[in-house]
Amino acid sequence: MQTNFTAEQLADPHVAEAESILRKCVHCGFCTATCPTYVTLGNELDSPRGRIYLIKDMLENGRPADEQIVTHIDRCLSCLACTTTCPSGVDYMHLVDHARTHIEKTYRRPLMNRLTRNMLAMVLPYPGRFRLALQLAALGRPFASLLDQVKSLKPMAAMLRLAPTKVAPPSDFAKPATHAATAARRGRVAILTGCAQPVLDPGINEAAISLLTRLGVEVVVPPGEGCCGALVHHMGREEQALDSARRNVDVWTRAIEEGGLDAIIVTTSGCGTTIKDYGHMLRLDPAYAEKAARVSALAKDVTEYLSTLDLPIAETKGMTVAYHSACSLQHGQKVTMAPKLLLKAAGFAVKDPPEGHLCCGSAGTYNIMQPEISARLKARKVKNIESTKPDVIAAGNIGCMTQIGSATGIPVVHTVELLNWAYGGPRPSALDRRVSA
Ligand code: SF4
Ligand code: SF4
Repeated sequence: MQTNFTAEQLADPHVAEAESILRKCVHCGFCTATCPTYVTLGNELDSPRGRIYLIKDMLENGRPADEQIVTHIDRCLSCLACTTTCPSGVDYMHLVDHARTHIEKTYRRPLMNRLTRNMLAMVLPYPGRFRLALQLAALGRPFASLLDQVKSLKPMAAMLRLAPTKVAPPSDFAKPATHAATAARRGRVAILTGCAQPVLDPGINEAAISLLTRLGVEVVVPPGEGCCGALVHHMGREEQALDSARRNVDVWTRAIEEGGLDAIIVTTSGCGTTIKDYGHMLRLDPAYAEKAARVSALAKDVTEYLSTLDLPIAETKGMTVAYHSACSLQHGQKVTMAPKLLLKAAGFAVKDPPEGHLCCGSAGTYNIMQPEISARLKARKVKNIESTKPDVIAAGNIGCMTQIGSATGIPVVHTVELLNWAYGGPRPSALDRRVSA
């Protein structure tokens, strides 16, 4: 694609990067076929190619964002299916990241939209606040249908519906600690606790830590780590995202210096994609560029790391698992085979649901901010998964688990919970709930 940026514009390294991405796009439109918003809405401006044109026009002309571009960029799930499909290697992720930052700096959103986004940015990244918000949501849930009547309040209604009916107490596994290997030691890793996952489902990291330590891996939960910054990063709040990244880079750098780390284990693939991008996010910060690149190189999805270990023979559980491949894992990190191979080796029959490349509509806070499109994608995803007639659904991202779990009676668990069970840990409690239902 030809571009017409001035030398002055290109002096800004962010604009220069956007320009080099834009130039790679050859307008072929292959990406439209796999874009969930294009497939759902049928509007070129809700396709990757359409968005790329809108971004080019905005940046080239040095214009502030307007309502049209905000509408279509807000509808993008950042699922990155387009990057898997694109034959020209267009780095849509970093292009849309830059567009979102530009929007945040130059566009004043309507009041309710602003308030909702501010509230999400102030609550979700902080486990204590998030826990309290979920407890309050239980009281507000009866009013969800009422809020649905007012367009600008629909995100509030979506939030109330998504909140779980019960919130688990804080887990000891989320506290700073070193969990010693209980077999012959063969590695040392840190694990991300993060923000929303330990509140919504503390059992995921419990299972990961339990499995890893039984396999001979020491697991460190270092003091001071927190939200990876993905949530605010996707809102275009770059400084807030970079602050989170710097804090975590400092924490993990200390852990590396204290005892060495073979990997930084991530059990929420949405966070994994962002942590693997810290090196890029902080590339222009001389104090952090090198440390951030080292952290990104060590970041591994839990299934990626488990694939590097020799695992014992597991007995078959006689269960069929529909594996839902989270977009952040398959498109963001290109981790596609490891989870399925691990599940098969652990004795599960694994099914690939049709249209596995399409997002479930969770996408961070998308199911709150874009509830209608999200609901359509969720219904499509659940129908596809249920068509495989599984006993259980496995996924590697808490957002997908919550989204899919809200629309099906089939239990939804994290892949690592099934692996932990297969190799001697407890049966995932979600499976027990189904038996008694
Ligand atoms: S990230 Fe997903 S929703 Fe956004 S343009 Fe690409 S395929 Fe479409
Ligand atoms: S597939 Fe790639 S090159 Fe083709 S239009 Fe989409 S982004 Fe551009």
